Order: sequence, then C-alpha cells, then structure tokens
Amino acid sequence: MTGEVISLPDLDASLVKITNSATPKTPLPPSKLVFGKTFTDHMLTVDWNSNTGWAEPKIETYGPLSLDPSSVVFHYAFCLFEGMKAYRCEDGTIRLFRPDMNMHRMNRTAARIALPTFDGEQLTELIKKLVLLDSRWIPGEPGYSLYIRPTLIGTQSALGVHPSSDAKLFVICSPVGPYYATGFKPVSLQATTKYVRASRGGTGSYKLGANYSPGVMPQLEAAKQGYAQNLWLHGPEHYLTEVGTMNLFVVIENEKGQTELITPPLEDLILPGVTRDSVLTICREHAAGQVQVEGLPSSDFVVSEKHMTMPQLVEYQKQGKLKEVFGSGTAAIVSAVNNIGYEGTDIPVPVGPSGLGNIAQAVLDRIQAIQTGKIDHPWSVIAGKATN
Ligand SMILES: *Cc1c(COP(=O)(O)O)cnc(C)c1O
Repeated sequence: MTGEVISLPDLDASLVKITNSATPKTPLPPSKLVFGKTFTDHMLTVDWNSNTGWAEPKIETYGPLSLDPSSVVFHYAFCLFEGMKAYRCEDGTIRLFRPDMNMHRMNRTAARIALPTFDGEQLTELIKKLVLLDSRWIPGEPGYSLYIRPTLIGTQSALGVHPSSDAKLFVICSPVGPYYATGFKPVSLQATTKYVRASRGGTGSYKLGANYSPGVMPQLEAAKQGYAQNLWLHGPEHYLTEVGTMNLFVVIENEKGQTELITPPLEDLILPGVTRDSVLTICREHAAGQVQVEGLPSSDFVVSEKHMTMPQLVEYQKQGKLKEVFGSGTAAIVSAVNNIGYEGTDIPVPVGPSGLGNIAQAVLDRIQAIQTGKIDHPWSVIAGKATN
C-alpha cells in the first residue's frame, strides 16, 4: 500500500447505454391504474464494485433481476429507496419535483448503511432520460403522474455482516392516479403506544427498507380495530412523530389566538420529507409576506417545528382549538386525519367539507400548481419535451 488515494469512477450519465424494449406493453387506461402495480417498459440499472467504482449505466427492458441467494440484501437488509414523481405538463414538458432533495437523501441513506454514494446530478440526468423514454406512460389527466422508485441494494454474495463490496442501483417507474380517486377521504389513526417506529440514534430518519416491514403488523392491528394508519409516538411523554409513512402536521389556535401550523422537528426520529419541507417553506414564505398563497390565513399565521405530545393535542381538542391534522408525502401530497384513537378514546379532528382542512387544501393546491408547471418555480425541474 502506498497510501495514495485512488478515486474510483463516479456515476456518469454520459456513459449510459440505452436499449429500447423489443416488447413494449400497452399502457392501462388511466382510470384502471392501481398505485404501484403497473410498471413502464424500461428500467435503469447501474452496478458498483468497491474496486472499480460505478459501472456504465444501462436503460433497458423492465424485468426481473438475477441475484445470488447469498446476496447481502436478502439477509441483512442492505436496501434503501426513494420516492419521487414526474408530471406531464400542459406545455408538453415532463417535469420532476425537487429531484435534488431526493438525491441528497438517497446519498445520506446510502452512507448510513455503508453502501456507495454517487453524484446526485448524474442520477437525476439518468432519471430524466428514463422518464422521457417512457413518457407515453405518463398520463396527462389532472392528478396523474409517474411515480419513480430509485433503489440501491447490496449485492455481494457472501454471508457475514460487513460493508457490501458490490451494489446495484436501479430505478423503476409506475404510472399512478390521484391517491384519492373519489375525492379526499380523511383517515382515522391509532396512536400506537405499544410499538415505536424510530428511536434516538436509530435509523428512522433514513429511507431504509428495513424501517418499513416492521410497521406492517402494527398497521394490521390498527386496521383490526377500525383505524387506517398508525400515529407513531415517541417516549413516555407520547411525543407525536409521524403518521404511517407520512410526516405529520397539526394546526391549532394557539394561546395568542394565532393559527399555528406545527410539525415535529427533524432530529433523528423523523424522515426528512420533501413534501414536509415544501409545506414548511410555502407556509413560512406566506407568513413572512414573501408570497401570497391563496387559502392560507392572511394574518396571525405562525409556522413552527416543535414538539407536541398526545396529551397536549387532547387538551387543544377539548378547548376546541384543534383545527386540522394531516400527513404529507410524495404519494398523496397531503392526507387529512379525522379521528385519532388514543388510550381507548377517539379524539375527533375537524375536516372541511371537501374532506381537507383549509391549510392542507391551500398547500395541496400550491404544490400541485408548481408540480404541473402552472406556476413557474425552481422546484419544478424540466426533464424535456414528452416524446410521445
Ligand atoms: C418517504 C417518507 C415520508 C415522506 O417523504 P416525502 O419525501 O415527502 O415523500 C415521510 N415519512 C416516512 C417514514 C417516509 O418513508
């Protein structure tokens, strides 16, 4: 060993080999789409090895991967993912929403489980190529989009818990309809005191595959008792953290009579959602008078990242000062909550006549207008003109 630093090849979009599918499928009519069940004709794959770095990216026919059964992903959950969307806009362009945020988060998650990081701008370029190639799969109807799932797995074939010498990055795409096909349907939550999603020093703030399967059984238990999702709490104080796989927002009338939008601070218990950040930024810019967002309170509006406990929420509800509870995430953008089951009691949460509270509705409208290019905004990144 001479001690010299050898820099391995990084991800390079210019090296991509594109092979058009010889067996293109017929896209389902948009009304028949079920979230996450239909995939486009192509996928992106890139291999990595600790001695040779990132190999040349390939875009080819969507299909099964072939992996050795001893691959570390199957045994030790070397697996992480992202969720982002592309939209077909009225000007004929296909646009991504804040892809830099997803790339940053994916690298942060990869580093957490010693999988390789990469140049996020290069992966964004590759994703642009993929979505343009499959643009005929992106419905143009309002509320429809292409859900994009970048994934990174450890593929070294060897048992033993250690960094994986091999990895595979892949990206698949699924055309999706409006999350709520029949209008916004508020959900009821079970505040879970029996299970935890995340803990200090744990991995709850990373989009690791291993964080999601343990949430399924608590969700089944909630469902058995008539609740749609879990409200995840933390600590003996029962701090609010997240709802299902979404970030959590609470709207109250505070002690000063102001409308206050509250979400728990990130620390390391909360997944740093792109939608969460977008909701906060939109509301803060409005509150500061930098932009006027229709539907948000015209005065006395405060935006806070701070802790709130379940007993505090119950107290606001008793005083008639609990105004809205909603979740935020890429799939549904916002999801209203109308009821929270907590220690044997159901706490009703107000929802507007549309099924969404005023604040949730206003941020939803604003985010959708940016995503679809109705408002020009740096968050909306043009991939190119739809080719078909
Ligand atoms: C992905 C995810 C979110 C939402 O993140 P977005 O970037 O807004 O889609 C929130 N909580 C959890 C646990 C998640 O996995």
